[in-house]
Amino acid sequence: MDIYLDANATTPVLPQARAAALDAMAESFGNPSSTHSTGLKARALVDEVRARARRLLGVPQARLLFVSGATEGIQTAVLSALSSLRRRPGLACLLYGATEHKAVPEALHHWNDLLGLGLQVLAIPVGRDGRHDLDWLREHAPRAGMVCTMAANNETGVISDLDGIADALSGSPALWMVDSVQALGKLPLDLARRPIDYAPFSGHKLYAPKGIGLLHVREGAPVTPLMAGGGQEGALRSGTENVSGIAALGAVLEALEDGRTFQDAATLKVFRNRLAAALVEAFPALQFNAPPDLCLPTTLNFSVPGLNSRLLLDLFDAADVRVSSGSACSAGQGRPSHVLQAMGLPEWRSSSAIRLSFGPAASHAFIDTACERIRACSAALRTHQLSTGWRESVASLDGVTRFKEAGACCYLLADADRQECVVIDPKPELVAPVAQRLVCCGYRLRAVLATGPDDTVATAARQLHDALPASLRPQSAADRTGWPLQTHELPLGRRRLVRLDPAGPAAVHAAFMLHDPVQGLPMVFVGDLLAPDFAPQPETGAMQPGGDPLQALARQVPLHALLLPAHDPGDRIATTLALESVDQALRLAGLQPAPLAEGADLLEGLRAAGGADEVGGAALRQLLANHPGLVLVDVREPYEQHLSAPPDLGRPLRSQPVPLSRLVNALPAWLTAPASAVPLLFFCRSGYRSAVAVRALRRLGHARAWSLAGGLALWQ
Ligand code: PLP
Repeated sequence: MDIYLDANATTPVLPQARAAALDAMAESFGNPSSTHSTGLKARALVDEVRARARRLLGVPQARLLFVSGATEGIQTAVLSALSSLRRRPGLACLLYGATEHKAVPEALHHWNDLLGLGLQVLAIPVGRDGRHDLDWLREHAPRAGMVCTMAANNETGVISDLDGIADALSGSPALWMVDSVQALGKLPLDLARRPIDYAPFSGHKLYAPKGIGLLHVREGAPVTPLMAGGGQEGALRSGTENVSGIAALGAVLEALEDGRTFQDAATLKVFRNRLAAALVEAFPALQFNAPPDLCLPTTLNFSVPGLNSRLLLDLFDAADVRVSSGSACSAGQGRPSHVLQAMGLPEWRSSSAIRLSFGPAASHAFIDTACERIRACSAALRTHQLSTGWRESVASLDGVTRFKEAGACCYLLADADRQECVVIDPKPELVAPVAQRLVCCGYRLRAVLATGPDDTVATAARQLHDALPASLRPQSAADRTGWPLQTHELPLGRRRLVRLDPAGPAAVHAAFMLHDPVQGLPMVFVGDLLAPDFAPQPETGAMQPGGDPLQALARQVPLHALLLPAHDPGDRIATTLALESVDQALRLAGLQPAPLAEGADLLEGLRAAGGADEVGGAALRQLLANHPGLVLVDVREPYEQHLSAPPDLGRPLRSQPVPLSRLVNALPAWLTAPASAVPLLFFCRSGYRSAVAVRALRRLGHARAWSLAGGLALWQ
């Protein structure tokens, strides 16, 4: 069973709302503007729901418009207010809370530009607790034409001090909009008592379907229709009414009125506290990003040091717990949360935040299961990553592990037999997870190496040193790259690491080549040498003019060795000199590499990398039929693999776990096999990581690799 804890993004539709929508489609399908009986029936339904909404919101006289959702409600409110400002010269600015949903500032900018008002659009700062700076607001309010402040924040759940805002606005000419999307069913809004001019609501945030919302407009507040047409909604919102959506919303409002479906505030608080306790037990270092006492009882927002939001999302999702990393609209964009940034939280907390939100229809049993699953997530993580002395854990680090943060890569090279390792190009954000693993598995750090003159790497190297107990720290004195003095090569169990100086001994750059007698291809950690604009930095004084360091590298490294970069924004994972001789023909003129695998064509990989590599539906059935020996490669991390099984594709397939962070270890075997070798079908949670793996593999020349479209999310 899914534990859906992302109610602030959207909610499932209540059974009675579903039934009401279906009933409306069957029985009240008429056009409410028609004057015959079928139309009158639909009109009666619309009027009844509007009357119920007025009653529930305590605004018998107000205008309540049915709209498609809150974004439309916000547009209508902003357009209405800003249109009226054309007749009120002398106002200087439009104000919105710095933590508003982006629909609000976007609408203000859009209509301000379109109407040619030229007003300043200013964000009202918020404090560390997420609440508006009322002194700032009081100072700017006399010159403001419109003020927009949400009732409760969608990411943190922070409840605005609406009375304080009303007080700061007293005497201000501004029209006031309160985005009430997250408040309905969770907070009393007192629309009648407060001088709120506009309040948009959205059905799908409270168990109605998507596509229906409400806009409350105070009596006397200006309204300019966003849509002109057939004159519906008193000519304020044209377009035939969404009768089935309105019916469903009506059923939700009825449930709110009768008090039997939704939990009261006290029970919701108990639920939230239980979830918070389970989270703290699971992740003891966790920090909540907003003070719970000031928040909706249905929202928790937290960050865990050393665990980024991508990892936590994958972990929870593998346990069938759906949470989000901030607002659903920006979740796909991988940006730090603007809400947490506005609250002044440190960068690591705003870029690693997780939001957990449930709706007021949650039950005790649901919360019990959610708490159990949260505990299971932490157990999986401990077993597969953090547990002390766990043998699988020790073995799972053997080889190369890549950590990536904001395009920058750090590598851990480990030998499980000797429990020794080397870290290359650490980053401050990655120190905690790397140190945690080394401490838990008891790996001794032989060296922390830098491929270039990067201050953040130097800082991270010091932090890593300090984070380890003395027994695990490097013992030997090292040069500026971290390389142990008087050493030509660094043995790591059966492996050997050799230092190369392709930019010359006077440069502050180095590359490191890893030889492994079991692997067919060496790996070379090349730093930023492959960047087309790479310019070596001298250690002191001026650089002696010399050839391109990439040419020098080509003299020291086999053409098909796997080159692993310090920055990999395009997620190529690895490349080779042979491929670079095609991609960077000018820098590597003269190289004429043959393909690596027997029967392969060097350019075929480059061509295939752009081809159709995602399969689902008929293409998948075809693939399964054509390749009986297909191997299913699970690129999820071990803690995710622990929590959920591979997809059932209708027939038994050999499955191979190769987490994306450790894909490079599997590349030599796959790439040196003949072109007719085992076909591979990669999968992960969403299809994103498997697509990365397939693109990388195809570019490197293994054309028989595919990604399961949509990932486990579509195949469970
Ligand atoms: N305002 C807030 C606070 C929200 O959380 C959302 C949705 O996430 C919106 C506005 C936009 O709502 P809708 O999806 O109905 O357009």
